[in-house]
Amino acid sequence: MTDRRSILGSLGLGLAGAMATGTLKAASPRRPFGYAVVGLGSYATRQIMPNFKGCDHARLVALVSGTPEKLERYGAEYGIPPTHRYSYATFDTIRDNPDVDAVYVILPNAMHAEYTIRAAQADKHVMCEKPMAVSVAEGEAMIAACRRAGKRLMIGYRCRFEPHNQLAIELARGGHVGPTRLITAEHGFNARTNQWRLDRALSGGGSLMDIGIYSLNAARYLTGEEPVEVSAIEATDRNDPRFRTVEDRINFLLRFPSGIEAVCVSSYSSNHNAYRVTGTDGWIDMEPATPYEGHAMRIRRDGSTAPRTVPPARRNQFAAQLDHLAECVAAGTAPIVPGEEGLADLKVMAAIYRSAAERRHVAL
Ligand code: NDP
Repeated sequence: MTDRRSILGSLGLGLAGAMATGTLKAASPRRPFGYAVVGLGSYATRQIMPNFKGCDHARLVALVSGTPEKLERYGAEYGIPPTHRYSYATFDTIRDNPDVDAVYVILPNAMHAEYTIRAAQADKHVMCEKPMAVSVAEGEAMIAACRRAGKRLMIGYRCRFEPHNQLAIELARGGHVGPTRLITAEHGFNARTNQWRLDRALSGGGSLMDIGIYSLNAARYLTGEEPVEVSAIEATDRNDPRFRTVEDRINFLLRFPSGIEAVCVSSYSSNHNAYRVTGTDGWIDMEPATPYEGHAMRIRRDGSTAPRTVPPARRNQFAAQLDHLAECVAAGTAPIVPGEEGLADLKVMAAIYRSAAERRHVAL
């Protein structure tokens, strides 16, 4: 049996990570940690805002939107007074609001860099959704802006706060099914028409930037390694009106320094949500692997296959993620998914696109 604490240590999760997993009681920050949510779209209003209620430290204190009716509606629903409601034009005055500790950027991808940098300049910590940005240069500028301001930057990689994924990391890196040899990871959905995700100017790319990033990020967190080479193949029907400016399918192979390979699927025209870690002695299977809820794990080991149930955490992945930034700020520690984590994905995604375009292996 592997010792959980030593694994947490070896994963570099340390105290902050242990708090994120709920294994330690966090030191209480001096007062609830106030977030302003920027962009009141689907993910913000359906997943993030309702889950502040499960947080120990974080609370929703301000809203930023380009749609006045949303400010009215959600302001009333969440008890956010008019003084704490902002438009994109008045966003920078959030600097003068002492109740706001952090800004959570939940905008279309191409707007992440601008609002992260403006938030840092307004002297606020930043939580930014994935993908962190639409280019490596933007990601670097965001990290630099937060560093200059002395503010934390965390990327919304919620799976790192979800118990099945946390256990999969622990088991995979701990050799539970023998040393990992191969990972397969598949993420995709059938994209509906008429949305910013299909407009490269707002999304920065197609399925890879939006959903394939889960396959990539899982391959990186399950191995704890950085890929050294990528090979990718794109398959996009340019006659499909959805795919005029962005890719549909882009499948990629990652090679890691230890010899592990990850075979990854990213799709905007077929439905996938799974990964499997195959070791010398069995496998760990997750399907669905990265949903909002309803994860399922099976393990094959010693010649038999069994489901593995994981007890629900006291805080769900959304609340634990929101609290994590508050805990890090209070403790003076770095988030387990800092800006550098988002930047690592951006660098690999750039290499994936280059590999597909140039039809060759790309070294990292
Ligand atoms: P939505 O389209 O539902 O919401 C985006 C919101 O951004 C809009 O409602 C609008 O809010 C604001 N906005 C400002 N300018 C524009 C513009 N030009 N076009 C469209 N919207 C604009 O997107 P999602 O909520 O699904 O995604 C937002 C971000 O969250 C993305 O980066 C996405 O990758 C990420 N995400 C992460 C998930 C996760 O599990 N971690 C899941 C889903 C999304 P307003 O009217 O208030 O101005």
